[in-house]
Amino acid sequence: MTQEQVVARAEGIGNQVKDSFSGEGSDGVNTIVNVSYEYVDSASTADGDFFIDLVDKVIVNNYDQLSSEDKMSVDLASGKVDNISNTQVNRIQVVVKNTSTRESSLTGAHETGHAGGLGHANKPSENTPAVNQGIQNSEFGSRGNIMKAGAVGRNIVPAQRTEVINTIKKQQ
Ligand SMILES: [Zn+2]
Repeated sequence: MTQEQVVARAEGIGNQVKDSFSGEGSDGVNTIVNVSYEYVDSASTADGDFFIDLVDKVIVNNYDQLSSEDKMSVDLASGKVDNISNTQVNRIQVVVKNTSTRESSLTGAHETGHAGGLGHANKPSENTPAVNQGIQNSEFGSRGNIMKAGAVGRNIVPAQRTEVINTIKKQQ
């Protein structure tokens, strides 16, 4: 990728994060999300920042030990977060090979939601019990939710927004 393309992809992700995660929470508090960037050639999450790696294919450390089914899901994944529910030191991988900027932007925002503690919107039992209490099944199943697995949506619901904010507050 050219540097211009890298910048476009990164800004696409940042803009989608701002767009999806800004807004009113279930507690009525309005939040405006800001994203700032620094571009580096290589990075370690040990440095205490939040990294987005633009990759051809998602990389997992234990790939060789995975079952063929799990290998296939890694091969098909459009993104991955290193740690679910870690808002402080984390790395997100976003596949940029054979994807549009719009697709990689939505993937980046989806993975950011995982970093903020959100599970998949179509699997309410997974990962996020606090959020589950505040969201109707119809909202979880909505095609518009960015936390749906294989996300096509753009939005989160107020309870998810409040959940992410509470996760950040707890970890700061
Ligand atoms: Zn996901």
